[in-house]
Amino acid sequence: MTAVRTMHQAQPKHVVIIGAGFAGLACAKTLATNRNLRITVIDKNNYHQFQPLLYQVATGILSTHNAAFNLRALLQRHDNIHVKMSEIVSVDLQRRRVTGRLGDVYDADYLVLAAGAEPHFFGVPGAEQFAFPLYSLDDAESLRSEMIRLFERTELPGSDRARNLNIVIVGSGATGVETAGALADLMRKTPQHLFSEVQLRSISLTVIDHGSSPLRPFLPRSQAYAKKVLEQRGVQFHLGESVQEVTASEVVLASGQRLPAQITIWAGGSKAARLSSALNIPLGAGGRIDVQEDLSLSEHPGVYVLGDLANSVGQDGKPLPQLGSVAKQAGEHCAQNILATVAGRKQEPFHYVDKGIMAMVGQGAAITEIGKQRRPLYGMLAFTAWQLVHVALLPSFRIGFQASIEWAIDFWGTLHLNAIVSRSSDRD
Ligand SMILES: Cc1cc2nc3c(=O)[nH]c(=O)nc-3n(C[C@H](O)[C@H](O)[C@H](O)COP(=O)(O)OP(=O)(O)OC[C@H]3O[C@@H](n4cnc5c(N)ncnc54)[C@H](O)[C@@H]3O)c2cc1C
Repeated sequence: MTAVRTMHQAQPKHVVIIGAGFAGLACAKTLATNRNLRITVIDKNNYHQFQPLLYQVATGILSTHNAAFNLRALLQRHDNIHVKMSEIVSVDLQRRRVTGRLGDVYDADYLVLAAGAEPHFFGVPGAEQFAFPLYSLDDAESLRSEMIRLFERTELPGSDRARNLNIVIVGSGATGVETAGALADLMRKTPQHLFSEVQLRSISLTVIDHGSSPLRPFLPRSQAYAKKVLEQRGVQFHLGESVQEVTASEVVLASGQRLPAQITIWAGGSKAARLSSALNIPLGAGGRIDVQEDLSLSEHPGVYVLGDLANSVGQDGKPLPQLGSVAKQAGEHCAQNILATVAGRKQEPFHYVDKGIMAMVGQGAAITEIGKQRRPLYGMLAFTAWQLVHVALLPSFRIGFQASIEWAIDFWGTLHLNAIVSRSSDRD
């Protein structure tokens, strides 16, 4: 009897983590230190995508393999972590049981939901159909292909396309600003003789936002800096304007103005991943899931929600932002709480350590606001700091090194044409 009980107690607890983004990965890696846990990481892709660098994939600065990393390779050092590629479509919170699209079922002692976010089109007619979002690797590759396809088709003899091309970016948060800056650099740095019909320097780049300044969470000084640098590089702003409709060739503003747009990029906001609606519980702002201060779900012991899927509140009572740093720290904290529970200790509330915010504006121009006090740095110094921080955040030294080489080539060389191949005319 004693032997049976001992064997039963020795059964490893099973932690199931849905989503291998910043939150899920950090949680899994922290948990793996406990040999008495069995961890299953489930993601709909077999790779981890590094969202902050997606705009660089879309604009050819980085190749795909520097922004997306095979999960099995990333986690190979941990033999108590198992990776499954499956899209989870149903969650039974009472039983802590999740089911994948193909009918695969996973039962957990501890269930961690970290499925991230997806683009929010706010019901704007045509936006989902015609605009290109920038939230996943697929999005980045589609946008990159579409841009090159547009240039190549404009180059064809007899092309009746307008020679003046227009790219419109909806949203002037970090994604919108970083994308606009990278596109402006791309047009400035690509040697004109590579194209005979496409007038690269005349391509119009327009950023639209209903707010009165770009980069809302940043200091007014930083917002003014970003706007000035982008305007100097040829980007036009339509601020205080909202988008009423997106068509295949135009963006229609609420004021009635119609902006021609062969390509519309949607950087207009995000909402919780659709998995949140499979939970059958009331949802908070942006479809996100309200969590308790220890990141667990009220009335569902053993269930945690992290990162962009969660509404967690900071010590000042305000919601924490949807940032990689918040997600990563939440993943580590959730793991510590699970380890504490397994060891019979009490769970601790999550306190986010705010080290500051940063945004890239373009080559040699970035903004870094350091610490909670937001001490600003601009220009080349901030540009270097941005690169160093992102190298440190990348999942391995080798990947960081590869990305640094591509950045150096991009900075000192001309256009990174090899990184922006298009799949020819596979789409109309
Ligand atoms: C373009 C862009 C730029 C950004 N730049 C910055 C930046 O510079 N700095 C910063 O701090 N933050 C940045 N962010 C925000 C940051 O990337 C997110 O806050 C962070 O990725 C959230 O981490 P997460 O783990 O919650 O979700 P994610 O990293 O989105 O990971 C969620 C994972 O869940 C998987 N998944 C989703 N649904 C399912 C399902 N049903 N079944 C199985 N798997 C599923 C997805 O495939 C994904 O791998 C940026 C975001 C975007 C979109």
